[in-house]
Amino acid sequence: MTKYIFVTGGVTSSLGKGIVAASLAKLLQARGFKVTIQKFDPYINVDPGTLNPYEHGECYVTEDGAETDLDLGHYERFLNIFTTQANNVTTGRIYQSVINKEREGAYLGKTVQVIPHITDEIKRRMQLLSESGYDIIITEIGGTVGDIESLPFIEAVRQLQWELPEGDCLVVHLTLVPYLKAAKELKTKPTQHSVKMMSENGVHPDIIVCRTEQPLSNELKSKIALFCNVKTDSVIEAADASSIYEVPLLIQEQHLDEICLKKLNITWFPEPDLNAWKGFLTKLKNPKSTVTIGLIGKYIELQDAYKSILEAFIHAGAMNQVKVLVQDIHSESINKENLVSKLEGLHGLLVAPGFGHRGIDGKILAVQYAREKQLPFFGICLGMQMSVIEFARNVAGITNAHSTEMNANTSDPVIDLMEEQKSITNKGGTMRLGSYPCKLSKDSLAYKIYGSEMITERHRHRWEFNNKYLDQLKAAGLKPSGINPETNLVEIVEIPSHPFFIGVQYHPELKSTVENPHPIFVHFIKAAKEFAQQKGKKGKLEGQLN
Ligand code: GLN
Repeated sequence: MTKYIFVTGGVTSSLGKGIVAASLAKLLQARGFKVTIQKFDPYINVDPGTLNPYEHGECYVTEDGAETDLDLGHYERFLNIFTTQANNVTTGRIYQSVINKEREGAYLGKTVQVIPHITDEIKRRMQLLSESGYDIIITEIGGTVGDIESLPFIEAVRQLQWELPEGDCLVVHLTLVPYLKAAKELKTKPTQHSVKMMSENGVHPDIIVCRTEQPLSNELKSKIALFCNVKTDSVIEAADASSIYEVPLLIQEQHLDEICLKKLNITWFPEPDLNAWKGFLTKLKNPKSTVTIGLIGKYIELQDAYKSILEAFIHAGAMNQVKVLVQDIHSESINKENLVSKLEGLHGLLVAPGFGHRGIDGKILAVQYAREKQLPFFGICLGMQMSVIEFARNVAGITNAHSTEMNANTSDPVIDLMEEQKSITNKGGTMRLGSYPCKLSKDSLAYKIYGSEMITERHRHRWEFNNKYLDQLKAAGLKPSGINPETNLVEIVEIPSHPFFIGVQYHPELKSTVENPHPIFVHFIKAAKEFAQQKGKKGKLEGQLN
């Protein structure tokens, strides 16, 4: 029997519902339950794949090739499990299936309406993963209570609460308790209002989690309990934490997991095993040194655009016991004149994924700098493609080398549109998506990093390394060290004469988790650490000579 926990949000967006949901799931998983999390998003896009990072942050890709909300990344990083297409559902997808059914005539002449047809489809999808044998499914409802577009989801939760046996589902509501500086007071009114609004929609939260910048006193918790009709111990404080990975422990101190289990009529449960998690936190909080990594991209000003990359750095930093300082460098701000001054303090350089021509020249210049200065280099997707272009132009002498994405008429398309992409016109869900196998050369950096010959990694791209240039680039010293065994696509390039230079067509950042940091990130940070040490030694030596 599967139990259901719904997580809703009130007052404002960006309260960190995804982190709270993932933290609760982690605690339940640590007690031996089989848990998964899914996200229901109220917007009309069928998936976030067509959304620009300015709108929606990073698009997270699952093993099965679904383009999803970035919260699924948190779910995977916290739980160390794979999510699927079924874990992210939007209003667009719900309507698409209802409308398709209507066109098939499946409603037998009935008028198709929000209630019951849309809500039935929402409820069906909310329960879909129970077929995979989960003990507990946590469903995060995107958006904020009170939004018009969230209403059918809240209504579906209301109906499910009646339909499921008693004690099989509960609602956790996340709100904001703001601190008013002028009044020197925390205010509970917004929480009261958002709970009232939920109640008007027929759903009453069982537990209220309060985001706050200041500790909540017992008095304040009692006040929220009184006004919002919950027990005082069901008012949980979620104070700002120094790392998102602390949140499971912070909510565990307030017994959120135990309270949930009891409300779900689960009376016997083992103590949680959080040893690996705590071990990670200890390493994270006690770094022995720091490294500075330059992250070159065009969405640098957005916190969420490179979310998985930033989290993968945190995992890899903890593994190496170094603090990774990420220096955001806007690719459009780099030019020949400022290149050295912008990059000389770095211990490693990562050129980020991306689409379109904006900032391309800066990325190519940055790759050249890393290659020539023996600076550890890591290129992901577009970053890998830029490293191929740079190498072709400046080492192999193919001066017009380019990608047809940026210059459709280039005479030397070292990066070209994949054959199967040429006839595609629809933008949604049509890239090369999801997990594909890759075979590594035994004498490569990649093999040293992964420690095995066959790997699988996730993709999201339309362009690829053009194999017509393979021999020429190989002869000039570029090593194609990872190849898709079925299609011969080059997935990894390296420069063996460089201490650490690797470009990958796939997205390793999507598979880095707390308990399984991604090996390329781990080795990249290790290389950066060594680079920093050498630089330090050189500095000292020069100092002594002076
Ligand atoms: N724009 C490139 C392509 O489609 C790279 C995509 C990416 O970086 N995710 O191939």
